[in-house]
Amino acid sequence: MGKEQSHSGACFCGAVQFSATGEPVAMGYCHCGSCRHWSAGPVNAFTLWKPEAVRVTQGADKIGTYNKTPHSYRKWCKNCGGHIFTEHPGMGLTDIYAATLPTLSFKPGVHVHYQETVLPIHDGVTKLKDLPKEMGGSGASLPE
Ligand SMILES: [Zn+2]
Ligand SMILES: [Zn+2]
Repeated sequence: MGKEQSHSGACFCGAVQFSATGEPVAMGYCHCGSCRHWSAGPVNAFTLWKPEAVRVTQGADKIGTYNKTPHSYRKWCKNCGGHIFTEHPGMGLTDIYAATLPTLSFKPGVHVHYQETVLPIHDGVTKLKDLPKEMGGSGASLPE
């Protein structure tokens, strides 16, 4: 500890600032319908962190939360509407949108929920049908 790299992130307007320290537990792309609908994009680039690695450093009072299901608490900036991160209490992980952490070198290790894709990506990275077994999924992979 102490020597770990810390990455600063912010919402679209900068009112909410946060940091993520150390290495993410996992990085990749999620193709699920919920991510698409919430992000209004075809695919979501995620970085998963232990909740204790994530710290809001400014603008905590500006963070809005919405949870459609108990699995995901989605956070955004009430000032600009920019998405910040999503807490997954069941998994014990926080998903920070890769795009909000500019200094983190994004190295996708997996595609999840690929059975729902609307944007097939031919990058040679593993495509899981849903989620890894340890996250309650089938662990099955699909061709690109
Ligand atoms: Zn903002
Ligand atoms: Zn998703």
